[in-house]
Amino acid sequence: MANCTRTVDAAIPPARADWQSVLADSVRSPAELCRLLGLDPTLATEAERAAGGFSLMVPRPYLARIRPGDPADPLLLQVLPRAAEMAAPPGYSPDPLGEVDACCGPGLLQKYQGRILMVATGLCAVHCRFCFRRHFPYENASAAVSAWGPALQKVAADRSLQEVILSGGDPLTLTDRELGGLAAKLAEIPHLHRLRIHSRLPTVIPQRVTDELISWLRGSRLSPIMVVHVNHPAEIDPAVGEAFGRLVDAGIPMLNQSVLLRGVNDRADVLAELCQRLVDLRVMPYYLHQLDPVAGASHFEVPISTGVALMAELRTRLPGYAVPRYVRETRGGMSKEVLG
Ligand code: SF4
Repeated sequence: MANCTRTVDAAIPPARADWQSVLADSVRSPAELCRLLGLDPTLATEAERAAGGFSLMVPRPYLARIRPGDPADPLLLQVLPRAAEMAAPPGYSPDPLGEVDACCGPGLLQKYQGRILMVATGLCAVHCRFCFRRHFPYENASAAVSAWGPALQKVAADRSLQEVILSGGDPLTLTDRELGGLAAKLAEIPHLHRLRIHSRLPTVIPQRVTDELISWLRGSRLSPIMVVHVNHPAEIDPAVGEAFGRLVDAGIPMLNQSVLLRGVNDRADVLAELCQRLVDLRVMPYYLHQLDPVAGASHFEVPISTGVALMAELRTRLPGYAVPRYVRETRGGMSKEVLG
């Protein structure tokens, strides 16, 4: 029986806990998740069946922001496998953006001019059920830490590139020593100007924003840009706000991207609150992505007409700088398509 009044009895790690220990202590069992959140145990059985090869993973700082006893909590919906993942509607596929074909070297993906994406790792700190890379063959396509060489050679040989985007998986699951070493190698390539990092870690494990991370980001010749991923205002608690603030105070531009998700953030009041909280934390709303049609995520789809109407509503409520661009990616497209 769900109980909305109890509190999560998961051990919440302290703000200065070692992020690697917090990551290692993530909840990976649906039964444990349901027990900690006071949810009906049949949800755990359903999750075990539905997860397939993309198992549940929830770090405890994120778990602590989920309302106990509420199976419709917008943060829970993002992480708990549901039976709907087993549906196979037409148009949904394992590689909706054709990324396997876009691989242009070991761990490298090039979709757009001037920048290249380095799949630095296949590991994440949270398994988001809507992830468009949930079926990505990381074992074949990641640039192993021990073997950056071929990827670096490829980037060095292409003088049209100005920017490297570290992605994954989540690049911040790598250590600062590994990342600092990679950033130093990239900085030796004269035609590169910028290093962008796409990460959900500062949100789901704010302890990841270490002095060492800030130090190598600030110390690089390359201009750093941090793109975080927050979908709902309840994902931002004081520790997350403090972690974002430390990055901004260090002079690192911060942007946020969200995915428009049914039941999570498909209401104007939720999106407006999210954008306002981000701006107040000096993180600029960048993209609101239409869901990529990846197999297993169809239950999150919001019709584009609804997304366009939400954007129109946001424009009436927010200053222009606080409104993200509503976009979708298409297989083989030369740029993202702006939807509204
Ligand atoms: S953290 Fe990013 S890459 Fe990892 S599962 Fe979530 S959306 Fe996908």
